[in-house]
Amino acid sequence: MSDLRDSDRQLAEFEHGHSAEGLFLRYARGRITHFWHRQLMTLSGAVTLALLIAPRIGLAAASLALLGEAVDLLALRLSQAGLRAGGPVGRYYRLTALSAGFQALTIVACIALAAFTAAPGDANFFCFAYLAGAALNAGLVLQYHPLATWVRLGVYGCALVGILAIESLVVNGVTPRLGYDLLAIGILVYMVWLLTEYVSSNMRRHIDTSRALLQRQRQIETANAELRDQQARLRYLSLVARHAADSVLICGPDRRIEWVNDAFTRITGYTRHEAVGRTPGDLLNCPGTDPQTVRDLERTVADGKPFRAEILNRCKDGREIWVDTTLAPLLSDQGALERVVSIERDITDAKRHEAEMAAARIAAESSERAKSAFLATMSHEIRTPMNAVIGMADLLCETALDADQRLYADTIRTSAEALLKIINDILDLSKLEAGRLSIDPVDFAPGPCVLDAVDLLRPRAEAKGLELAVEFRTRLPAMLHGDDGRLRQILVNLTGNAIKFTEQGSVTILVSHRRRGAEVWLRIEVRDTGIGIPSEKCTRIFDPFAQADAATTRRFGGTGLGLAISRLLARQMGGDISLESHPGQGSCFRVEVQLHPARGLRAPEALPEADLSALAGLRVLLAEDNGTNRLLVQSFLKGTGVLLEMAPNGRIAVERAAAEVFDVILMDLSMPELDGLGATRAIRARGGHHPRIVALTANAFASDRKDCHDAGMDAFLSKPVRKPELLATLAEMAGADPAPARRAAAGGKSL
Ligand code: ADP
Repeated sequence: MSDLRDSDRQLAEFEHGHSAEGLFLRYARGRITHFWHRQLMTLSGAVTLALLIAPRIGLAAASLALLGEAVDLLALRLSQAGLRAGGPVGRYYRLTALSAGFQALTIVACIALAAFTAAPGDANFFCFAYLAGAALNAGLVLQYHPLATWVRLGVYGCALVGILAIESLVVNGVTPRLGYDLLAIGILVYMVWLLTEYVSSNMRRHIDTSRALLQRQRQIETANAELRDQQARLRYLSLVARHAADSVLICGPDRRIEWVNDAFTRITGYTRHEAVGRTPGDLLNCPGTDPQTVRDLERTVADGKPFRAEILNRCKDGREIWVDTTLAPLLSDQGALERVVSIERDITDAKRHEAEMAAARIAAESSERAKSAFLATMSHEIRTPMNAVIGMADLLCETALDADQRLYADTIRTSAEALLKIINDILDLSKLEAGRLSIDPVDFAPGPCVLDAVDLLRPRAEAKGLELAVEFRTRLPAMLHGDDGRLRQILVNLTGNAIKFTEQGSVTILVSHRRRGAEVWLRIEVRDTGIGIPSEKCTRIFDPFAQADAATTRRFGGTGLGLAISRLLARQMGGDISLESHPGQGSCFRVEVQLHPARGLRAPEALPEADLSALAGLRVLLAEDNGTNRLLVQSFLKGTGVLLEMAPNGRIAVERAAAEVFDVILMDLSMPELDGLGATRAIRARGGHHPRIVALTANAFASDRKDCHDAGMDAFLSKPVRKPELLATLAEMAGADPAPARRAAAGGKSL
């Protein structure tokens, strides 16, 4: 590298030295250096004149010559200094041409002194020789300062012509000597020209040769530097390949191994000696190696393209390993395959980890499925008896009871409802945590929604002598789009807690909203003057099953699920719940949810009061395996005029639906022999009259509703079935269908 820099520097110096400025500087330096040599000639001339003519003539000639030299020397030094200070070359070039002219004139004056003070004709040869010497001296620097050279030669030429003219015309007249003089002058001028030309062309050649030499030297240095670079790179690359952690194989065009690194031996167990000469396939492939991958590899490399794949290899000790292999074909300039370099990384551990992760994922998914199935079963198993308990309690309350009996029946009913709420909460929470609880947005009126929810709890507040108030801080939009059911659920939770944990004072619900773009943020604050919550418990109470303290739990009851569910629901709706509380003074739960502008869709209406007259003569088949539930439905429909038939399982339901005409089939989902979904599909699969089919199920998941719908059911009643819902649904079914079966009215049991 430093050689290359030297060559560059030399070339630059050469070009600078042979530029106009460089040559001019060398001219100045040369003239200054050879100043004393030139004075030898001046001195010898002056001594000659002093001896042959007169000492004063010699002195005058010497003085003149020295004056010219001194002026020229001064101009040259000035030029050197000026150029060093960055002055313009042109100016000094012209200045030194002038000083050269002046110096030539002083030489001419010396010669004239000799010519005209010596006896006529005596000094002619001396003068010509002196002029020729001066002209030669000037001609030698033609390449360095052409202008100074031509000025000097011009002055000498003019002087020659002048001396000859004066000699022949004024002093001697035209004599034969003039002819000899002219011839001698001609020869001298020719010699001067010849010599000058010879020196100049020699110098030009020398410059060209020197430049070519320097350029060649630079090319050699460049090639050398590249070679050294390549050698260093090769050394590094071979070191990298040798010490790489991955296997490196170099194969010839016939795919036989020519070289492997140490990592190859470490990974596969084969030494370099054992590997060289064999193909990687022979050495490493095993029955488990994917033949398609091997074929792809061979084809791609034969096409001269790189290839990457994961391949199963077998080591020398029989162990199978997965390698991530990358093959890079090296091609000649003509495109022929010269070598193939393979880099192979052992990815066995990564593969194993990947397989473990996949297995873990499958296990997690199946455990999630098992959890869902467990929840569905639990839900079904608990709701079925609950159905009977609540239903029977409802029926019991409708009978004539004395005060004690009514209290017992009411207690059964409220306890069963409380139990049902707990079951619903647990189901909600597990669905929320699994991210499977969907928000069902509809258009709804936010003001009445809040008021309805609070009104539900008014009896409880009044029973405790608490003031329960709702304040609207802003004028809410008449309609908004969101899940009103879930909003009501949150509000009932928070207000219910506020009433539960307040012994005296009030519970106030403050409602406001703000808009951000098209979205509406509804904010509801539930404030109470109750027992409050210690600050260290304020975060924990939002955890499932967490309660502020055990004593409170014993006193007030509860599962600790309400707040956890409410917060998850609020977050599901894009908002959150926060809390501010002071023990002994009260709490303020602040919930904010994101709602959207109404979309003009009508909110589903509450179940209309059932028109019981529509039920008279309605032929209904109840497919239900549980005797208590059959009894319950029978009791609910007593006195409605419905003609009820029973089928204890799905198969019998299908047979009866094929043989008779029913308006509605109440279809339990979980039945022996043929379940509700299967029975519905079988009924829908045959032609003829199609009854309306209403699912009765203890499974409360949305996916169950979808299954029912897909099987061909028309409605869905969740267990425990309440009497008003059953009657309303049947009335709706009756209204939707003109009930052809009623006209057939054959053999049905009127209830
Ligand atoms: P639950 O009320 O069924 O126990 P929650 O999740 O609704 O479950 O409430 C968790 C706990 O938070 C309650 O047990 C109670 O200790 C505390 N808490 C909730 N609301 C209030 C309130 N308004 N005042 C005082 N404590 C409250």
